[in-house]
Amino acid sequence: MAEKFNWSHTYKELPEVFWTEVDMMDAPEAEMVLFNKNLAAVLNLPENPDNYNDIFTGRGMDKPIALAYAGHQFGHFNMLGDGRAALLGEHVTPSGERYDVHLKGTGRTEFSRNGDGLAAVGPMVREYIISEALHALGIPTNRTLGVMETGRAVVREKNLPGAVLARVASSHIRVGTFEYAARLSKEHVQTLADYTIERHYPKIKHSENKYELFLESVAHAQSYLISEWMGVGFIHGVMNTDNMTVSGESIDFGPCAFMNQYDQDTVYSSIDTEGRYRYRNQPAIGQWNLSKLAEALIPILDDNEDEAVKKAEKVLGQYRDLYQAYWLKKMANKLGIIKLEENDVDVILEWLDILEENRADYTSAFRNLTNNEISKLEFNTTERFSKWFESWQSLLEGKEATLDEAYTVMKAVNPAVIPRNHIVENAVSAAENGDYSQAEALIEVLKYPYVDEHDEVYKNPPKPDEEITATFCG
Ligand code: AMP
Ligand code: MG
Ligand code: MG
Repeated sequence: MAEKFNWSHTYKELPEVFWTEVDMMDAPEAEMVLFNKNLAAVLNLPENPDNYNDIFTGRGMDKPIALAYAGHQFGHFNMLGDGRAALLGEHVTPSGERYDVHLKGTGRTEFSRNGDGLAAVGPMVREYIISEALHALGIPTNRTLGVMETGRAVVREKNLPGAVLARVASSHIRVGTFEYAARLSKEHVQTLADYTIERHYPKIKHSENKYELFLESVAHAQSYLISEWMGVGFIHGVMNTDNMTVSGESIDFGPCAFMNQYDQDTVYSSIDTEGRYRYRNQPAIGQWNLSKLAEALIPILDDNEDEAVKKAEKVLGQYRDLYQAYWLKKMANKLGIIKLEENDVDVILEWLDILEENRADYTSAFRNLTNNEISKLEFNTTERFSKWFESWQSLLEGKEATLDEAYTVMKAVNPAVIPRNHIVENAVSAAENGDYSQAEALIEVLKYPYVDEHDEVYKNPPKPDEEITATFCG
């Protein structure tokens, strides 16, 4: 029986420069409009949303904290920090898992700069939908416990209904948190690294070269995460170093979207005018972000600076190989190739080229192949495809695994439904007008991405007049 929060506050044991107390804006009219009962159950928390009104409006609690961090935003360094968020504390589950419980949209903090500290309903509903979709797809992500309407307007281009989002994450320690520590002192970097190792990578804490192993662990976690994004056509949209966690969980994906037509240059975010964070750039940006973590860690990687730099460069090289291996494994699975051999790579690349040449819908093409519904592929009559199909089939037949086994693997990695942008936008606009039924229905569908028994509306790519090509930050 789910009971209540089991609070712990280890982040507050870090030196005070890493956080600051927050006076949350009171919200007497607050009302939970979307609540994640499943997640509450998993976390051993009350499944009745009424239990949360006080906590999520900061009443009857110790003061929450805003976390200090810095970050490279579109390549430029800035001092940042939680400008519109409050960390209530860490909830520890009966099995000992520790989760940050964090509110977004709770008013100004010491780090708000010119911002109002607020969040609007639309982007918070969007974050809920996407985070739960990523989770159901099996991709590491922070998750959303609920969205509350605050009953106050938020002023953007026009007045919008205000919201607070409650999310849980294994932590909110970012690459940018280390960049911040590095601006303070070597000791601060070390303190933060020790804390992070204890929290995320405790197995390495007694190793002599633990900081190098830490960097390596983050290289693993982030290369894996990004390979998973690439596998489902997810475009994060703002891969600034302050939006990349060292745990390897997806976080802060404001203007993100899933790609429809396979085009590696796809960009949705309206603020990403240069396409820095386009689909094809994500793996390399991951490495660039990791290099910022490495720079921050240099003073503690080795007493000799040249040696430290060598160690950092070694791990950055590893990242590239790790990414390549994770990505190939993912793509192989998507084509039912259970045991990948060197020569199989050509089959993968040729399939992707065919998709790109035909601007085929990425998700449907893989799913149609999975369901052996070749006639649904718009390019099924081309000679290039026939040739490819033959070589793919004979490759699968030459493997130890049976064809049945190959198709079973494909079914488990090629989603039938993803949160398609046009569907998400409709659900979000309805929510902005007080109707959450579309968002609820969509969230329900997205819990089961790998089954076909969904309404066509959710599975089909947008028609040309439904297509949404730009997304906005909240
Ligand atoms: P993001 O890239 O959206 O995760 O946010 C970048 C930085 O801007 C973070 O430090 C946020 O806390 C801050 N920020 C975003 N929106 C607001 C807002 N409305 N008020 C204050 N700070 C904000
Ligand atoms: Mg402080
Ligand atoms: Mg952020």
